[in-house]
Amino acid sequence: MLRIENLHKRFGNLEVLKGVNLSVKKAETIVIIGPSGGGKSTLLRCINRLEEYQSGKIFLDGVDIQQIDVNKLRTRVGMVFQQFNLFPHMNVLQNLILAPMKVKNMPEEQAIEKAHALLQRVGLLDKIYAFPEQLSGGQKQRVAIARALMMDPEVMLFDEPTSALDPELVGEVLEVMKNLAESGMTMLVVTHEMGFARDVADRIVFISNGVVEEEGPPEQILKNPQKQRTKEFLRRIL
Ligand code: ATP
Ligand code: MG
Repeated sequence: MLRIENLHKRFGNLEVLKGVNLSVKKAETIVIIGPSGGGKSTLLRCINRLEEYQSGKIFLDGVDIQQIDVNKLRTRVGMVFQQFNLFPHMNVLQNLILAPMKVKNMPEEQAIEKAHALLQRVGLLDKIYAFPEQLSGGQKQRVAIARALMMDPEVMLFDEPTSALDPELVGEVLEVMKNLAESGMTMLVVTHEMGFARDVADRIVFISNGVVEEEGPPEQILKNPQKQRTKEFLRRIL
């Protein structure tokens, strides 16, 4: 589904990704962990071309993403950020239907119908006419997830989706993500939520210093990491 080969990314003289290799199968959920500044966000941003990279290749279904129209690519690869990024002057419904109508030429009626279904799925149908400022952080993030799903993405990228939330709101967002994973979505999730990683991830990928230092199933990475850096990182966060 997604294959990243020897990806290198620099910001000026700062080498951030130093040869990342990673393959993700359809319907797999990958949790990415690692120290701050290690390149996790940069990697996700390269995958939907929010960042350019200097060398290496990223393939989506066997096609180099540089060969895919960038707007088309972003409908196929959805992204959810730490800071929701909802349009503040639009209500929930408007936030959801804007992109599919504009980018996919979806008829308004169909977009509204789809928005209803997705809001139902994330448990927020009753907030359909609310504005972002009237929502809690957890509700905003669930709307952001529903908005990304409006495009029928093949892959979803999550960059610390619960890091900006009050602790009591984290669970409701993780629950939506868990359901999404169980429904067969292909997902890459950067998170520090180790309970989610343990329960939902098919694989945990530890990224440190711009490379995939270690990867494997949760029980292996969490209980029996092989690399010294992984051990040290887990000792600090667990
Ligand atoms: P965190 O866990 O803190 O989110 P991260 O693993 O997501 O860290 P990145 O955000 O990918 O790390 O950043 C990797 C490195 O690239 C950091 O040293 C960061 O300062 C640098 N960096 C990120 N974006 C830019 C940018 N636009 N310009 C210059 N340097 C950048
Ligand atoms: Mg980051």
